[in-house]
Amino acid sequence: MGFNIPRGTQDILPGESERWQYVEKIARETCHAYQYKEIRTPIFEHTELFSRGVGESTDIVQKEMYTFADKKGRSLTLRPEGTASAVRSFVENKLFANPVQPTKLYYIGPMFRYERPQTGRYRQFYQFGIEAIGSNDPAIDAEVIALAMSVYRKAGLSNLKLVINSLGDKESRTAHREALIRHFEPRIDEFCSDCQTRLRQNPLRILDCKKDRDHELLKTAPSILDYLNEESKAYFAKVQQYLTDIGIAFEVDSNLVRGLDYYNHTAFEIMSNAEGFGAITTLAGGGRYDGLTEEFGGPKAPGIGFAMSIERLLAALDAENVNVGTDDGIDCYIVTLGDKAKDYSVSLLYKLREAGISAEIDYEQKKMKGQFKSADRLHAKYIAVLGEDELNQNQINVKDAKTGDQQAVGLDEFIRFLKTNTES
Ligand code: ATP
Ligand code: MG
Repeated sequence: MGFNIPRGTQDILPGESERWQYVEKIARETCHAYQYKEIRTPIFEHTELFSRGVGESTDIVQKEMYTFADKKGRSLTLRPEGTASAVRSFVENKLFANPVQPTKLYYIGPMFRYERPQTGRYRQFYQFGIEAIGSNDPAIDAEVIALAMSVYRKAGLSNLKLVINSLGDKESRTAHREALIRHFEPRIDEFCSDCQTRLRQNPLRILDCKKDRDHELLKTAPSILDYLNEESKAYFAKVQQYLTDIGIAFEVDSNLVRGLDYYNHTAFEIMSNAEGFGAITTLAGGGRYDGLTEEFGGPKAPGIGFAMSIERLLAALDAENVNVGTDDGIDCYIVTLGDKAKDYSVSLLYKLREAGISAEIDYEQKKMKGQFKSADRLHAKYIAVLGEDELNQNQINVKDAKTGDQQAVGLDEFIRFLKTNTES
């Protein structure tokens, strides 16, 4: 009986996994420069963490969660996103007690959502995200956005678009919410059933509906920006000023609302403008959430973060024809002739590897010709040939694959020779 991979998941095979490591390395290095530290939380959590933290009215909670009962009947859910877990951990481990705030965290790992799979949309996907919890300085909003942009640029993307919006504080949002209800209510029967529920639960999310996105009432909907109170306006202005000072271009789109329920003030998305990138162009989304720690039983600690999937980042690199993380080959392949040389090569290979030299031999009893072919396939920089004659003379014959130059090197000198010639 054969097995197939579950729908909406993928195997990341050698050759492809190098690209993942490449972008993950950039993410980690950027986090180090910006002083975000890694947090690793469980892959599953109590279901209620997400229904409360992400919000009952969201697609994630209503349709997309992988929820199951464990053997004691507890309801657990595979994490659909990272913020709820990070904030839970911040509260549970009292990270707010650290003298320096905000607490700056990052995570990289798989998330799970039961969605209709398509290009750029999987049921298991990897997110890199950050959270800065414990400050409502608009400089942190600019920093979080700058970090996301920096990762994309360093990875090699240039066709990027940053869109920002402000959802205001509670007072502003309440006023806007009432205006939205007044706007949509008379004609709500023209909208999908989800939107009809959203009208009372969270009318802001009607603006984010994928089914009704072309309805004329969306174009004329009251803009949140007209409902921001003075404080919220000043906050948003400061974020924009900092972005401008840093030199990050952006557009303001008052229809940008993020899917999650708990956002306020700054919301943003980063899109790819690359031609041929396809229907899904959003690479990352994020924003500010100011009441979540209290929702989880902790003290007031306003937060902001973003999440991006590695899958969409790699797809954007493809769309821009940026080649990254390609396997650049091994340092040395040892070709052996005869049993004695083969036996000797096993411990020699070990020594090379322990010295940090990437090296390989043949394990299929191939003839010399076949071994040379393998060396070629592995893109070996040096091909070292060892036969009985060489062994007797305590030497190895080393060929530079690029120039074709050959020379005999003393076996005692071999490691040093490779080290000096392969160090980049
Ligand atoms: P979308 O509107 O595309 O469904 P979303 O609002 O559900 O996105 P978020 O929950 O904000 O997305 O997640 C942040 C980022 O995670 C997205 O911008 C995207 O890069 C990525 N992402 C979300 N869902 C998926 C998925 N199913 N497969 C791959 N990447 C995803
Ligand atoms: Mg979604």
